[in-house]
Amino acid sequence: MTDCLFCSISAGDIPADIVLRTPDYVAFHDINPQAPVHILVIPVEHHQSIAALGAANPELAGGLVAVTEQVAREAGLTDYRLVFNTGADAGQSVFHAHGHVLGGRDLNWPPG
Ligand code: 5GP
Ligand code: ZN
Repeated sequence: MTDCLFCSISAGDIPADIVLRTPDYVAFHDINPQAPVHILVIPVEHHQSIAALGAANPELAGGLVAVTEQVAREAGLTDYRLVFNTGADAGQSVFHAHGHVLGGRDLNWPPG
């Protein structure tokens, strides 16, 4: 999709701090990190959300979860949070399926 930010990052048309690339997936640092480690993992193939990806291509969706684990491990995380915001009311702002890998601080909620 030409007007999709994450398709543009995947294609190399918009720069990103890429940590992992395979033929099917790309992982890169979030531009506005919410934790010491905040990496986004996307499929190269455009799907508007994790729900749409899971419905259209369950194998690719499953592979995305496997890649998030690899990304977390290579970032030195044993404990991390994997988030898929799905829909604008849930906080999704980029409509290309992506998982947030968050870690490197205490993520227990509520704190304390
Ligand atoms: P969402 O809100 O859709 O779940 O997550 C989108 C994420 O993309 C946000 O955490 C936001 O900081 C990140 N983001 C938005 N624009 C860019 C960008 O141009 N480059 C990178 N690396 N991350 C971005
Ligand atoms: Zn896209």
